[in-house]
Amino acid sequence: MNEVEIQRQKEIKEAEELLFTGPQALGFAKGLFLGRFVADWAMPYPRIPAAQQAELDKSLTEIRQLLDEHLDPVAIDRNADIPRHLIDGLARTGVLGMTAPKEYGGRGFSQRAYCKILEEIGARCASTSVFTNAHHSIGIRALLLFGSREQKQRWLPPLVTGEQLAAFALTEEQAGSDAANVQTTATPSADGSHFILNGEKRYITNASIAHVLTVMARTPVPGSDKTAITAFLVTPDMPGFTMLEPRMEKLGIRGTATGRFAMRDMAVPKENILGPIGKGLKVALTVLDFGRTTFGACCTGGARTCLQLAVEHANRRRQFKKTLGDFDLVKKKIGRMAADLYAMEAMTAVTASLIDRGLEDYMIETAMLKVFTTERLWEAINDAFQIYGGSAYFTDLPLERMLRDARINQIGEGSNEVLISFIALVGMRGPGMEFKEIYDTMFNPSRGLGKAWTAGMNRLGAAVKIPSVPVKSESLRSQASQLGRLIWRFNLSVNRALIKYREPVMDMQLVQERIAGAAMEMFASACVISRLDSDLQGVSQNGASAPASRRAAQLFLQQSFHRIRRFLSELTDNDDAELLATANSVLGKEEQPGSNGR
Ligand SMILES: Cc1cc2nc3c(=O)[nH]c(=O)nc-3n(C[C@H](O)[C@H](O)[C@H](O)COP(=O)(O)OP(=O)(O)OC[C@H]3O[C@@H](n4cnc5c(N)ncnc54)[C@H](O)[C@@H]3O)c2cc1C
Repeated sequence: MNEVEIQRQKEIKEAEELLFTGPQALGFAKGLFLGRFVADWAMPYPRIPAAQQAELDKSLTEIRQLLDEHLDPVAIDRNADIPRHLIDGLARTGVLGMTAPKEYGGRGFSQRAYCKILEEIGARCASTSVFTNAHHSIGIRALLLFGSREQKQRWLPPLVTGEQLAAFALTEEQAGSDAANVQTTATPSADGSHFILNGEKRYITNASIAHVLTVMARTPVPGSDKTAITAFLVTPDMPGFTMLEPRMEKLGIRGTATGRFAMRDMAVPKENILGPIGKGLKVALTVLDFGRTTFGACCTGGARTCLQLAVEHANRRRQFKKTLGDFDLVKKKIGRMAADLYAMEAMTAVTASLIDRGLEDYMIETAMLKVFTTERLWEAINDAFQIYGGSAYFTDLPLERMLRDARINQIGEGSNEVLISFIALVGMRGPGMEFKEIYDTMFNPSRGLGKAWTAGMNRLGAAVKIPSVPVKSESLRSQASQLGRLIWRFNLSVNRALIKYREPVMDMQLVQERIAGAAMEMFASACVISRLDSDLQGVSQNGASAPASRRAAQLFLQQSFHRIRRFLSELTDNDDAELLATANSVLGKEEQPGSNGR
């Protein structure tokens, strides 16, 4: 094995330890990669129980009133500050501790219900939704998920009521997308009572206004020269904590305080460790799963505002003696926005309910939701901007601010490129392991046939059986059967890619992008079918059974099925070799003979 191969095996082993912890129920996305439609996770469309819905409606009324009276997104952007009276209002209405258990002062809301609240905030002001997310979705999340009873009792009550604020600090200069490359060190004191933290964190939302920060730092692994990441609770009054830049000047979400801070010989009691020592990366990734879910909700809210603005303008503005809405190229944008919005809402609801219903591993689904909603919001803003023409460019309308605010979404909480690669690789691991089992047994028959036989039957079963997508509404049967066929085709394409490329597929991001893209569209389509089925059966809670909404859903399915077919056909019909060769020559990279442009 050469050095690169040794490093690769090490990375695979580390990722496996991190992501795959023993037998779990098969999730929806992993099922897709195995050629199965695991209906139970997506169908029936998740409903909020009546008692919880009443509580949610009450909260939404209160929050809408607060936002109407106290939220001024223009002033927040101009002053680069979220005023205290708004934060106090969010605290008073329970938003800052909504999913925390009631025993700690929270409202005990489900993720599904909380997402409805964040949709509402995201529809109005991205600074405020990102602030809320940083505090609640990720700031206090590690404490909620991994804190001991004593830690929760000690730290949670003031955070949950909003008396104190929280932040989540992972990113550093050398640890951006490569989150595992944290350089901040945490060295145990001689008596073992403390850890001494040294390092710097940057781009941290709420850093300068937070009273408690979850900080990731590297601790020694006992009995070896290795280190591993551990999560610590840190307070800014700890000697050695220095705020280097409390509010970094920035393009969008200007109301949020994005900070950079240093920790110099800062002693943190060992009681402040969250979760098992050395398992901080697992803590961080789990926390980010929650962040990505509420991210989806915020983007969905933003997309709803875009559609509203676009419709208003298209019906009002006249050119060439017609309203803009009379032109097909404007209709094209509005139709697509409505279709995508329907899907964003459905995907957010289904993903949040996976968490509520206790699926253990929903990392692929939250990554899909994050990539899908952030990309579609960006398109929606771009389209609404175009419909407004020159007027969108000026600061008296919200679109230039929305455009600036939305740009971070494709970068933060895992850049979309990293997540696309993650979706494809983690998804392909299931069928990949089955092929490995078959292959290893072929070359070493003494291993016995048992596991290889099961793996072979699974692969064969998926290759011959088209999965069934169960729907109640007669009018949806055709779409359901098309989705089933596409899942079957997708499975064959994944198998083909695994057999053709084998391990090098791990570096082939253009192949991964198509596989992840198709999987993401299939997940979105499944959520749309589930929601539409429920709308058609008259059990929707969203009042969304109006004809325009149903049409939007049907359009989404048509467009999504086209995109899936395109992704799959481009796996074999593409210009990857030329593209990579061009990029390599522009980047000044030497071309390897026979590298196919890689
Ligand atoms: C306003 C704002 C708020 C933030 N809030 C927080 C916070 O509260 N807490 C926190 O910990 N962090 C926070 N961050 C940090 C954010 O999560 C990082 O910016 C993000 O993870 C990307 O890291 P990076 O900026 O170092 O970019 P890099 O890692 O340098 O990546 C730059 C680009 O390179 C590409 N790229 C990188 N790796 C790959 C790959 N493997 N394959 C293909 N392409 C790749 C992607 O296009 C990526 O966008 C915030 C950032 C901003 C701007």
